[in-house]
Amino acid sequence: MSTLEIRGLRVSVDTEAGAKEILRGVDLTVSSGQTHAIMGPNGSGKSTLAYSIAGHPKYTVTGGSVTLDGEDVLAMSVDERARAGLFLAMQYPVEVPGVSVSNFLRTAATATRGEAPALRHWVKEVKEAMSGLQIDPSFAERSLNEGFSGGEKKRHEILQLELLKPRVAILDETDSGLDIDALKVVSEGVNRAKAGGEMGVLLITHYTRILRYISPDFVHVFVDGRVAEEGGPELADELEANGYERFVSRAGAGA
Ligand code: ADP
Ligand code: MG
Ligand code: MG
Repeated sequence: MSTLEIRGLRVSVDTEAGAKEILRGVDLTVSSGQTHAIMGPNGSGKSTLAYSIAGHPKYTVTGGSVTLDGEDVLAMSVDERARAGLFLAMQYPVEVPGVSVSNFLRTAATATRGEAPALRHWVKEVKEAMSGLQIDPSFAERSLNEGFSGGEKKRHEILQLELLKPRVAILDETDSGLDIDALKVVSEGVNRAKAGGEMGVLLITHYTRILRYISPDFVHVFVDGRVAEEGGPELADELEANGYERFVSRAGAGA
């Protein structure tokens, strides 16, 4: 049982014009076996939340706390966060020429598991996960993220998710740029990773489409750098029907 706890989180981003406050007091708790969807309009700070939890240097935490099973995540280096069991699917993953997907995965698995996985077992594990995600075997020898199509990036994210078995996964717009078939394949991968009930998922999305395949237990509407409303899956249906307007005008009036 693991719990990611975000309390009163305030974050500023460093811009050329100076620091700009983006997150204005975020409260959120994600436990093992739960799937939380964060939905909100463009520019509401959803990616900033993901980057802040991952420890991206551009974002400065000015208040509040983030803990994983009581451990202070904000005091950890980026590597330590990954080893502690946090997984962030980057919205824009970096290219690393010369490092193959296969090398990267084995290094990452060694780091998160604390020891190198036994080779024969590992090869089988990777093969099965790739096949489940309909990834061609030759993909393993490609350079990390180099020339990956949108769909390949997303499949690679979920491949990592299945192999690295994080305690809490933060998926930022995993659905963006996927056609309906790829969306199904990717969603099934997330559901496989969830199946043991040991992983918590924070699914950040602009559209409700992915929620037809990955069922959220909780939906949080994110507006203007904070959670404006929370509910169950029915809240996603309401957003699908009515959009974000009601929440946006309410947040504006209250600010
Ligand atoms: P979302 O993911 O909900 O679309 P973001 O977190 O990407 O929102 O952005 C929230 C706000 O913060 C936007 O106004 C955006 O322009 C600003 N912002 C985010 N990251 C940066 C950055 N690195 N530099 C400047 N502004 C940023
Ligand atoms: Mg955006
Ligand atoms: Mg975003």
